[in-house]
Amino acid sequence: MKVAVLGAGSMGHGIAQVSAMAGHEVVLRDIEREFVEKGLEGIESNLQGGVDRGKVTEEERDATLVRVTGTTDLAEAVADAALVVEAVPEDMDLKKSVFEEVEEHAPTDALIASNTSSMSVTEMGSVLEHPERVVGLHFFNPPHIMDLVEVVIAEQTSEETEARAVEYVHSIDKEDVVVRDTAGFATSRLGLAAGLEAIRMVEEGVASPADIDAGMELGYGHPMGPIELGDHVGLDVRLHIAEHLREELGERFKPPQLLRRKVRAGNLGKKSGEGFYLWEDGERVGMSGDWGDE
Ligand code: NAD
Repeated sequence: MKVAVLGAGSMGHGIAQVSAMAGHEVVLRDIEREFVEKGLEGIESNLQGGVDRGKVTEEERDATLVRVTGTTDLAEAVADAALVVEAVPEDMDLKKSVFEEVEEHAPTDALIASNTSSMSVTEMGSVLEHPERVVGLHFFNPPHIMDLVEVVIAEQTSEETEARAVEYVHSIDKEDVVVRDTAGFATSRLGLAAGLEAIRMVEEGVASPADIDAGMELGYGHPMGPIELGDHVGLDVRLHIAEHLREELGERFKPPQLLRRKVRAGNLGKKSGEGFYLWEDGERVGMSGDWGDE
């Protein structure tokens, strides 16, 4: 089927890639040509990485690349699409305006999905004339590696939409969990609860960031500790989601002062070179502040 992915950033290009690898015809749309190109290059480089590691054959790489095209034209991207997935920045007004524009140009039976990690899919769907086809498809970063997609059921989502969304998730060889549309769904909510508590523990001097992370990795089998994960996601993104969940779910999601201070100082994690850890060329090289060496 034809899948249109809107937004060619971190998530959008990965969603386009996994859809094309599964045999779907994909159009990747962004607002500037250079962003589209960057997304397409990201797909190519992920696939090449797969070839180098022996996970993807050269034939699969080439066939996948043929199935993905890029455009800046929204109408062209969504025309004839069976599924439209938006992966534009986490901003409710932007997402609503994208949904309105999509409905103008997409077939009336196309599923309209959002990759939001915490916002209300029901609210996004409220701008649609045919809102029964709205659904959340929450992919995880990076989409070509992570096996899960949360299927988020909005108030308006019909049973048919839910079934088609789950079918799509299986078609791209991912596992689904179906969750009701509540702030943070299942995963962002629990992940953030652990992340905020871990920062409070650093604030209270319970242990160093590296020891807290090692505790969860070695003791609980998590692939990455909650503090390092925050550095990967971006501390500004974490703070933003915490503020949203606090508003929706209460004071238990109140962001710790230490998190606010880091963000105010521009220490946003891996992308800025410093968060709770120090980063060089994408590698963790030490701990920030008084914690010293690991
Ligand atoms: P990003 O900033 O990397 O990419 C967003 C892209 O959307 C940019 O290239 C931007 O130019 C483009 N864009 C802006 N307006 C647009 C429009 N009107 N039409 C098409 N493209 C437009 O963001 P991201 O990290 O990929 O996040 C996208 C969405 O995915 C957000 O809702 C985010 O919450 C969600 N999400 C992110 C992660 C993550 O780890 N980054 C994980 C799960 C879900």
